[in-house]
This record gives sequence, structure tokens and C-alpha cells, in this order.
Amino acid sequence: MNKVRTRFAPSPTGFMHIGNLRTALYCYLYAKKNKGAFILRIEDTDQERQVENAVETIYKTMQLAGMQHDEGPDVGGDFGPYVQSERKEVYARYAKELVAKGHAYYCFCTKERLDTLMDSDTGNRRYDKHCLHLTKEEIAENLAAGIPYVIRQNVPLDGTTTFSDLVYGDITVDNKELQDNVLLKSDGLPTYNFANVVDDHLMAISHVFRGMEYLSSTPNYNLLYQAFGWQLPQYIHLPHIMRDKQHKLSKRDGDANFEDFLNKGFLPDAILNYVSLLGWNPKNDREKFTLDELVEHFDIAGISKSPAIFDEVKLRWLNSLYIKELPFATFQSQASTYYNSVTVPLEPTLLGQLLQSRISAFSDIPATLQFIDRFDAYDLELFEHSGSKSSKELAKSILPTVIAATEKVESWNNELLFETFVKVGEQFSLKNKQLLWIIRIAITGHASTPGGATEICVLLGKELTLKRLKASLERL
Ligand code: GLU
Repeated sequence: MNKVRTRFAPSPTGFMHIGNLRTALYCYLYAKKNKGAFILRIEDTDQERQVENAVETIYKTMQLAGMQHDEGPDVGGDFGPYVQSERKEVYARYAKELVAKGHAYYCFCTKERLDTLMDSDTGNRRYDKHCLHLTKEEIAENLAAGIPYVIRQNVPLDGTTTFSDLVYGDITVDNKELQDNVLLKSDGLPTYNFANVVDDHLMAISHVFRGMEYLSSTPNYNLLYQAFGWQLPQYIHLPHIMRDKQHKLSKRDGDANFEDFLNKGFLPDAILNYVSLLGWNPKNDREKFTLDELVEHFDIAGISKSPAIFDEVKLRWLNSLYIKELPFATFQSQASTYYNSVTVPLEPTLLGQLLQSRISAFSDIPATLQFIDRFDAYDLELFEHSGSKSSKELAKSILPTVIAATEKVESWNNELLFETFVKVGEQFSLKNKQLLWIIRIAITGHASTPGGATEICVLLGKELTLKRLKASLERL
């Protein structure tokens, strides 16, 4: 069998969409699993859609994701150049070869004429092969006169084209359904519809992974391979990623980019792990995989035909697992920028220890720490809690004893504080739950906090804890 060669072929049009990241990931996994090569190709032939710095974003994403390519514009390789705009002559040469063989033709039609071919019902434009019938002399004259032209694929009007996809199976279409796609544009650059075929062949790509939006054009590509007499690659089209049952996760959603998730405090490894599961099922219940483990387990047979729904809750859950596993120093260096949002000075190590096991994204930190800075005017109704049978009245009656006992605590640690509070509880015949609820509200003013009453006491320190207990009592 030929060597496995996969390619990730992004267009530098902005951020790295989650769908593109998934394509890159599957290409990487399949190549690595099969000891093949993973190639990065920049598809920049649509000059109008280009965005400055987008190529840098691609490199940065690949690096952050830990997916090192074996060949590409920056690392070189035997099949370069790997940037399509640097391959202009290659496409022109192959387009002319197709013209010579009758599988493509020059088209000089103006935009105005093409607009008249628009189907008013569907809004689709179907080219009528008008220029296919130009004589050699007419073509030569037009070219000599410098009339702008494109080169179009000459799709047969009859017969069918069948191709095989490793996910979607065999697909057959009537050739009359296919368009005479533009292969070479008037600026001399190829369209995706041409460049992907030429490059995948010349770069000896064995497996083409790409989004299923390309599935319907694949018969056109097949016809091109046939016209050149080239061997077809294996196709693996990937199901859509949806925001919900009806809507695709689109670039316009703004929140579907790798960068956005990084900015929201998700870890690259967790994002990648989650993305791997969007459309691929390891066929067991396992969900947590490092990149190396994914290489070991990834399998085309596990790719699903049905759309995958992007579930941020699940991503958060995976991210929390990765956060818990971080070495404490790494956690602190990433988390500490968020500590600046807290104005009451706290011991960073205690803060970090408390947060690491509780947050599911770094950006949760400011909200999680609100209880530190927003204490003064909290709602006293928080003491009314049926679950722990707590009430304002009860709080008012026990807080003086809690304060007196707390004042006597000398070594300020979890165990001792717990013992102290339990004793107060016994004195009033209260359940621990009741008492600890009251204390936690009295020192935080928040119903949910990143730790229990004693842990928060330790974090706040003796002085601040007592100050808050007293302030709460006063308000009651
Ligand atoms: N340049 C295409 C894109 O960014 C790549 C499609 C493919 O993987 O072939 O959508």
C-alpha cells in the first residue's frame, strides 16, 4: 500500500473555526496512526477572502494544538511549494492540458450574460456551455484581443458519476446535475474546485479528509481525476458540526473559533479532546484522550454520518478534568492573571488550591471570586434555606456564639475550625449542614462559593472572617 499522506488545507480567511480544527485533527491522527505524513497546505487562491495574519493564526493554532506537520510552507518538503498562490503556473499548465483533451474550455462570457442564466426560482446559475462551441479561430481572436476569460470544466451531459466515500459509502449522481465549474479564474488563479484535485494528486495525498459541504462537488473532482488519468484518493467527508438541531455552527456565530475558547480559559488539550469526539465515536464510553491516545485509538470506521452537536457543557466538563491535572505551578501561572480582579488581598496559594478543583474554565474565576469583593450589601434572604433548614432567625441567634468560638481559634486551619463549629452546632442541637450554611452565607454573602465554610474561613484569614461574621450579625 502507498504511504498514507493526509493534508490539512485551510484558507487563510480568519480565525480557526472548530470545524477546520477537527479536519486538521483527523488528518493528523490518521497520518500518525499509520506512520504516514501530515501536510499543511495554504489555500489562498481566493484573494478577496484573505485576511491579514490569518496564516500566522494557522501556524499558531497548529503549534498550540501540538499537531506538528511533516511538510508545509514553513518546514518545506519534497512536494512544495505548499502555498497555492505560489503554484499558479502549475494550475495553468494542467488547465491547458484539460483544454487540449476536450475536458475543459475557454469561456469569455461576461457577468451580464451569466446573470441572464440565473434561474429565477432557485437563484442558481447554470452555465449553458455557450463557449464550448466557439471555434478555434474565435478563441484565438478573443485571446489575442485580451478579452478576460475563465477555463471551465466540460462535464458530460449524459451518464453518471460514482464515487466512494469511506463515511458516506458509494454515491452516484447524474452528470446532467453537475455544473461546468470554473477551474481557472480570470485572474489566472485556480478555484478550489480545480486546485484541490491538482494539488492532492501532485502532493501524493492518499486520504482526503474534509467537511461534507464538499461532498456534492466531489463527482466533479472525480471527473477531473478521470480526465487526467490519475488515481483517486480515498475520501473521508466529515459530518456537519451543529449549534443545535437546526443550525450549523457557523463562523458567523463568533464563538466557534479555537481562539475564542482559548480566550475563555479553555486548555488546548481539552478543546482538541472535545473536538475529536465531534463526529467520531471510539465505540466505548471513554471520552478523555490525550493527543497520543487519540493517535492510538482513532479509526475511520468510528466517524459518524450524522451531524454532531456542539455541547459546551461537555467541553467544560472535559476542561475541568484537564485543569485538575495541571501541575499546581502551571495552574497558578494561568489563573493568577484573573486574581488581579480581586481587591481584597488573599494568599494566592490558598486561592489557587481552592479554585483548581472547582473551576471548569479559567474565565470562571472572576465570577467565582465575587464573594470576596461583593460582600457588603448581600441579600439576607440567603439565610432562608429550606434544604439545610436554615433561617435568618436561626442565624441571628447562633452567630454570637460562632463569633466567640471563632475568636478563640488559634491555629487557623480547616480541621480546627471544623471542630470548633461542630461544637457550636452541638450546643444548639443543629445539624452540621444547618450551621455551616449559616456561617458560609455570613462570611461570603453568596449561595455558591468555591469551597465550604471552613475552607473559605482559611482563605479569608482570621481577621477578615471575624469582621464579616460581625458585619452579618449586625445586619441581622
Ligand atoms: N481550503 C478549504 C477550506 O478552508 C479546504 C477544504 C479541504 O479540506 O479540501 O475550507
